Amino acid sequence: MRDDQQIRTDLLKEIAKCRACRFCVDVCPTYQASEGVESLSSYGRLQITKYLLNGMLAFDDPLTYCLYSCLQCRRCERMCHSKGQAIDICALIQAGRELLSARLAEGGSHAAL
Ligand code: SF4
Ligand code: SF4
Repeated sequence: MRDDQQIRTDLLKEIAKCRACRFCVDVCPTYQASEGVESLSSYGRLQITKYLLNGMLAFDDPLTYCLYSCLQCRRCERMCHSKGQAIDICALIQAGRELLSARLAEGGSHAAL
């Protein structure tokens, strides 16, 4: 089984493929429902995952909500792929959740990665 460091490296490499075009943002239903809160969009969740993995953000309740409120509906992915990028956004968000959950299980409370 791969260790956490390898998983983090792979996730960061995948997130780095994002061109920050933000075409995926407007089709995200949680972004629409929040009336424009970027941290509740596909692109925002990728950025949050990146900064959590880089250790630049602490894992707290608002950030947890941002990651776990994703509906995994794939509307963002379809838009991203239609624009010529092939980023598996849902898988990245899910992987970020799993890594954070594992950290929570180990630490028992919020902690920086
Ligand atoms: S559409 Fe794809 S490349 Fe553009 S911001 Fe969204 S995830 Fe990144
Ligand atoms: S999968 Fe998540 S991030 Fe992508 S459009 Fe649906 S709710 Fe938004």
